[in-house]
Amino acid sequence: MTAMLIDGKAVAAEIRSEIAHEVSLLTERGITPGLAVVIAGDDPASHVYVRSKAKQTLEVGMASFKHDLPADISEAELLALIASLNTDPRVHGILVQLPLPRHIDSEKVLQAIDPAKDVDGFHPLNVGLVASGSGGLVPCTPLGAIILLKKVRKDLRGLSAVIVGRSNIVGRPMAQLLLKEDCTVTIAHRYTTDVASLVRGADILVVAVGRAEMIRGDWIKPGAIVIDVGINRVAGEDGKARLVGDVAFDEAAAVAGAITPVPGGVGPMTIACLLRNTVDAAKASSATGLSLDARYAARPTLVPPVPIQ
Ligand code: NAD
Repeated sequence: MTAMLIDGKAVAAEIRSEIAHEVSLLTERGITPGLAVVIAGDDPASHVYVRSKAKQTLEVGMASFKHDLPADISEAELLALIASLNTDPRVHGILVQLPLPRHIDSEKVLQAIDPAKDVDGFHPLNVGLVASGSGGLVPCTPLGAIILLKKVRKDLRGLSAVIVGRSNIVGRPMAQLLLKEDCTVTIAHRYTTDVASLVRGADILVVAVGRAEMIRGDWIKPGAIVIDVGINRVAGEDGKARLVGDVAFDEAAAVAGAITPVPGGVGPMTIACLLRNTVDAAKASSATGLSLDARYAARPTLVPPVPIQ
């Protein structure tokens, strides 16, 4: 292996300790940042994520509110809960764990979250602000990926960045963040005809596809920075399940300049960035000291969420 290993676990721990410090200062001023997590149904993987989020929220001294709803909750009841969290002063961040049960319109629920508390960055207002490079709450996984990239190289200006995958939660916002860093950005997706030749030109490669070890070592430009977002469970030689990324790690590490491992790369950054967004949302609300309506009135670039009928 010649590549430098980008240790997401260590960077995430640094971020959590900075956050714990900020939380203690805010708490002294009477503001304890609070994160509400809403989960509906029995999906075991979702429950594991939610437990981990709640645990880390408490560990940094923040308040954690869990709303564990039955799978048959109605859309109207869920929207009523979101409306009450939007006005609850103890709650600075709201996260709705996806996927929601099929009978619920996820888009409608995500759009009902107050954009100022939308710590996942999925509300169209935040999507628009991030796309236009004018602020907004940034989705946690791409935020974690850009922090890791900038640990390797502060100035990304002029670099050629290729993102494989165009999902709303990773690929698309990642492209906006890299554009903001003045990279030349190319997005490849399932209909791209020759992904390998695009990847060969990348100084920065971000992969979020969900296909185990799809990106081979001989696709990587020597010295490139490789951020592997993929998490895939495969059977190991001993028959036990193990996690691998979307990049063939050993092959790529022999060519790249720096690379994230799976696990221990982008994964731990996602929750750390969720905590970061929640503290930033708490600071933004306490900085103005204004009600949400007054904040909208004071910032004409922010439009209030339209009540859902
Ligand atoms: P998704 O299924 O929403 O999107 C996958 C994308 O890959 C699509 O845009 C699709 O066009 C593209 N794609 C599929 N096949 C392709 C191919 N052959 N060539 C090029 N592009 C192709 O997935 P997602 O939610 O963005 O997640 C992607 C991966 O990242 C998954 O493994 C997921 O588990 C992982 N993930 C990790 C974290 C984290 O915290 N580290 C967070 C989110 C997602």
